[in-house]
Amino acid sequence: MSNTRDIRAVWTKAIAALCLTLFLLASASSAGLCAASPPKVAVEEIRHWSNPNYTRIVITLGRKTKFSHRLLKQDPSINVGWRRLYVDIEGAALGAKLPKTIPINDGLLKAARAGQFDKDTVRVVLDIESIEDFKIFPLEEPYRIVIDVTGVHGALPKEAAKPALPKADAVQPPVPPVAADPTLSQQLGLKVRKIVIDPGHGGKDPGAVGKGGLQEKDVTLKLARMLREKLKKTAFGGTVIMTRETDVFIPLEERTAIANSKEADIFISIHINSSPKRTASGVETYILNVSRDAKARRLAARENATSTRSVSDLEFILNDLIKTAKTNDSSRLASSVNTRLAAKLRENYGGIKSNGVKGAPFYVLVGTKMPSILVEASFISNPEEEKRLREDKYLQSIVDGIYSGLAEFLSGGSSV
Ligand SMILES: [Zn+2]
Repeated sequence: MSNTRDIRAVWTKAIAALCLTLFLLASASSAGLCAASPPKVAVEEIRHWSNPNYTRIVITLGRKTKFSHRLLKQDPSINVGWRRLYVDIEGAALGAKLPKTIPINDGLLKAARAGQFDKDTVRVVLDIESIEDFKIFPLEEPYRIVIDVTGVHGALPKEAAKPALPKADAVQPPVPPVAADPTLSQQLGLKVRKIVIDPGHGGKDPGAVGKGGLQEKDVTLKLARMLREKLKKTAFGGTVIMTRETDVFIPLEERTAIANSKEADIFISIHINSSPKRTASGVETYILNVSRDAKARRLAARENATSTRSVSDLEFILNDLIKTAKTNDSSRLASSVNTRLAAKLRENYGGIKSNGVKGAPFYVLVGTKMPSILVEASFISNPEEEKRLREDKYLQSIVDGIYSGLAEFLSGGSSV
């Protein structure tokens, strides 16, 4: 009995304490003292990559929040010769380390400016000299707003000619000197002069890890280097650019920005697949698209380092971007690479599966302006394939297969 009385006494005290807390909270709130509004989202960083025809701006935020944007007409009353695009970020405050003005001056954008528009809104303004089109979309984990601005082709001011920026293709491709042995790209009418190879993951992001400890980031870097060598040794004749040369972390949106700002003609992202099913094996090649295939969506989530929920959100937001992607060329490239890759591996190895060409919303393919594919060149989760991925001979077969698919695509042939 005394036990019951004790319990009652504890309950009475607890309820009294709860009532007091609620009362104090209510009073504080009505007096305007209570911090009812959530803490502000910090606008942490604004990065950009650009050339005279293209600029990608990435605004990194502390967490997800709402934003809106507007492209303003040129305003004669304020006597400036450029247009402004602004993004209003709700419930936000300027981060402590964020500079107020980020000069760009690439001939397309003059600068990005960030300011506290009102107590709840940060406004990021882009001063644009010549704009043809722009896309704005969020990526998650961490939450960032990506703005891709395309300029009016050819209407470039003088300062656009920056030595570090590729502009060889901006107007007319220069006629190369006649070589004794014409290179592959010369034979093919110089359509493809720059290939960007993107070794998946790197640095703090190992990618998938095999049961034996092999890390995806190491295999993709090795493959990318070997593919670059192969392209250099053979008669490709163009430029090969790598998004990373060492074991370093590069955000996905930066990899895309590298390909676009270098005006690449082809973008190949190299990855190694993984599945909870140890028996899963083979090669598959992706293009940017929405997907109903649960496995492909899970893979996109893993490669994007997000949840599958974020993949669904992305599909919804990016519907028009996905529709305007270079789908036909990308499909043809993916088909050639996937078929040739599987065939090349089969020349030396048994049990190679081709899982075909698929679409899924990969961050790294969003906004690319050239035929772009993501190759999953084996399963690191499959013990047999993990073992093979440690052998140079197997890696060379993968590289030879990708190269062969690339050559087929360049020559206009296709295995579709
Ligand atoms: Zn990967």
